[in-house]
Amino acid sequence: MAVATPKTNGRPTSSATADSAAPQASEVPGIPPVPFDHEELAVRRGERSGLYTIVAIHSTALGPALGGVRLWAYPATIDAARDALRLAMGMTYKAAAARLDLGGGKGVICCPPGEKLGGELRRAALLDFGDLVETLGGRYITAEDVGISPDDLCVIRERTEHVTGLPSERGGSGDPSPFTAMGVEAAMRACCGERFGTPDLSGRTVAVVGMGHVGSRLARRLADAGAKLFVSDIVDERRALADELGATWVEPDEAMLTECDVLAPCALGGAIDAANVDALRCRVVCGSANNQLADESLAGRLAEREVLYAPDFIANAGGLIHVYMEIKGYSEEHATELALGIEETLGHVLATASDRGITPLDAARELARERLGAAVAPAAM
Ligand code: NAD
Repeated sequence: MAVATPKTNGRPTSSATADSAAPQASEVPGIPPVPFDHEELAVRRGERSGLYTIVAIHSTALGPALGGVRLWAYPATIDAARDALRLAMGMTYKAAAARLDLGGGKGVICCPPGEKLGGELRRAALLDFGDLVETLGGRYITAEDVGISPDDLCVIRERTEHVTGLPSERGGSGDPSPFTAMGVEAAMRACCGERFGTPDLSGRTVAVVGMGHVGSRLARRLADAGAKLFVSDIVDERRALADELGATWVEPDEAMLTECDVLAPCALGGAIDAANVDALRCRVVCGSANNQLADESLAGRLAEREVLYAPDFIANAGGLIHVYMEIKGYSEEHATELALGIEETLGHVLATASDRGITPLDAARELARERLGAAVAPAAM
């Protein structure tokens, strides 16, 4: 196993810890800098698949670092490592703000560009990832993320017990996506209360960009709540669900600029960037995707444009709450209560932001920091 810092542009070093590494920025042109103040970055080329598997652990100050594993094709392995680092940091904030006794981590399996990973190669990559997780001795617990199914988690489980979100027939709590969708809808109500004076979603126009595990469930919930939907995905087959829900289909390259009350990015991170931030035609951004802002300074630009942004790590905490309950002893009732509680948490964040003239992102970070307190060194915040 190689343990690398982003400063090396992928060349492995012997080790890096939060104590030894000062915050650093990625030097890859065209990609936003990634502060590196993580406890650990583990990068390993799988011995079965030959594909890179990665785990970033940002913090274990509040508990084991829990975060999903993502299967995706990146232009280069360093991009995958950077994604893992960014996502892991987000998980630390998410768990802290949701008041869970968990730290932040994230896994990535690098898919070969242009290939759909299936069959024996997929199985080999999942087993390789399981081996990597096992080497971390429980400091990192994996779960589902983009490109990974509950069945995939069962394969990873063959190599390590540090897995959550297994199917219920395998003793797990099942897919977290319904709880993530529930939490995003709750967050949307808080946003609409703040922006439009009522949390009622009935009659609101909402654009859901990315109709995967979370986006499709969110769209269903919103349709049930009486919202008028626009939906989009790069997978054309998702049109069937759009038809079923009476939603208007939008082509993916136009979807982010849909004129609507609420834009819900539910695909990958970086959906809002310097190129599109001034062209958005929504009043609220509230979706499930992690790291929706390509650059965090965009939170300020959104505020200037009077677009209310629901910090992603608050809005999409429902899935994390769900898998946390699996670790603590599952109760659907309690998981539901906590996921619906995101409306109150975000309401508090938005009110703080408004009262103090700061962005919701800054207010959300403050909330997380309050909990992390002295447990995390200032550099890690
Ligand atoms: P998923 O892979 O099931 O769905 C993502 C969907 O986005 C796919 O249908 C994909 O085709 C589509 N997509 C990709 N690029 C697109 C583009 N440019 N335009 C339109 N559609 C595009 O993943 P998911 O589990 O639904 O997660 C979605 C997002 O929410 C991710 O960022 C994930 O990290 C985040 N998230 C998920 C959970 C969860 O419980 N699954 C929890 C927290 C956060």
